[in-house]
Amino acid sequence: MATSLAEVKAHAALPTVGQTLLLKNADLLVTMDKDRREIKKGCLFIKGNTIVAVGTENEVPQTADRVIDLKGHIVIPGLINTHHHMYQSLTRVIPDAQNGELFKWLTALYPIWEKLTPEMMKIATKTAMAELMLSGCTTSSDHQYVYPNGIKLDDSIEAAQEIGMRFHACRGSMSVGRKQGGLPPDSIVENENAILKDTQRVIEQFHDASRGAMIRIVVAPCSPFSVSEQLMRDSAKLARTYGVSLHTHLAENVSDIEYSQKTFNKTPAQYVEDLEWVGHDVWHAHCVKLDDYGIKLFARTGTGVAHCPCSNMRLGSGIAPIRQMLDAGMHVGLGVDGSASNDSADMIAEVRQALLLQRVGFGPEALTAREALEIATLGGAKNLNRDDIGSLAPDMMADIAVFNLNNIGLAGAQHDPLAALVFCNPGKVAYNIINGRIVVENGKVVTVDMPLVIEQHNRLAQQLVTGS
Ligand code: ZN
Repeated sequence: MATSLAEVKAHAALPTVGQTLLLKNADLLVTMDKDRREIKKGCLFIKGNTIVAVGTENEVPQTADRVIDLKGHIVIPGLINTHHHMYQSLTRVIPDAQNGELFKWLTALYPIWEKLTPEMMKIATKTAMAELMLSGCTTSSDHQYVYPNGIKLDDSIEAAQEIGMRFHACRGSMSVGRKQGGLPPDSIVENENAILKDTQRVIEQFHDASRGAMIRIVVAPCSPFSVSEQLMRDSAKLARTYGVSLHTHLAENVSDIEYSQKTFNKTPAQYVEDLEWVGHDVWHAHCVKLDDYGIKLFARTGTGVAHCPCSNMRLGSGIAPIRQMLDAGMHVGLGVDGSASNDSADMIAEVRQALLLQRVGFGPEALTAREALEIATLGGAKNLNRDDIGSLAPDMMADIAVFNLNNIGLAGAQHDPLAALVFCNPGKVAYNIINGRIVVENGKVVTVDMPLVIEQHNRLAQQLVTGS
């Protein structure tokens, strides 16, 4: 159980200390390094949790404690998911929430989420993380903003520690209920002082600022329509006192814009600028309706955006202007968003959707396969304000996804294996390595008993939704 930062760090390091691992002979090794090298017959040498050498057979040591021959495989940097609500795995395809836009969808789901328990939170987080890992994801954030019935952020951290995922745990919150003009029911909002106090507690208990950190805390009030301006300001102050990042939802759809104009008499971009919610330590989810002023502001200040194409399509929110954001020099990462609005936590599939949706909005040249993959790796690292993940190069953390190029979905697409990963359906990973530790091997999660987790998850989902 995660009770302190020291224990979290010790646990993360246990299986890998001093051990060496060689991945060799990969048909293609995609580095995302500064030269964007794509190496045929690529090799990668890892010591402990760190990459030591990347290159061809002649450039990389050829013996190690463990050697994996990856003929017929493609190796990429582990994908980085920068927006999720993992507890929502319990509330996929709820009939009343299948067809509404954001506010209607939320209103249908809040009364269910109110009944969540700590056990549900742990199992849902484990389930969501396993699904992500099988789709090539090695680092994920989780925006957890509902805390009924004794739930704590500690529950999510414990799950991440057990399954072995690199984790940015966002201490979300809602404080403005219906009585005060907000959207959520009054029964699930928290007191603002209590929010700030608990956020400070989890930062002090779990946040690891060091290179290679497995756990970081993020200060993350849910959205402008569910917290007060004061909480946004206090949150920014708290985050900057401790040097941790800030995250929230922003400019998601037209109702969100209307709320901002009506309540604050500002566009979302003006609102966050005024609150000092801009900078390298801030990333916002969605920004489907971010205007030209906002794009320039975010580019100038290094503020990031988590693009969530599936969720934006699912809720009919619109098409985020990713091409325009990239051209302006903005940081753009990718997120699957919560499993009640995706309803598939599949990172490599999300890369494909990002490519396709941008083309629907802005033409067939709007995004290339390589740009889409870059958003999901280097872009994600920038969102999370990290320089130790997102590429495969010496001194980077050993976070690696490996796909089998002989999977049915890639048949006939061998001429460009990288593009194949994005344009086609590559299926689940063959291997996933996080912090030097193999967490998926031969297509199976090896850190938890997966059939048991799924069984528990489905039982708890039924209990949550039907009360039986
Ligand atoms: Zn979200």
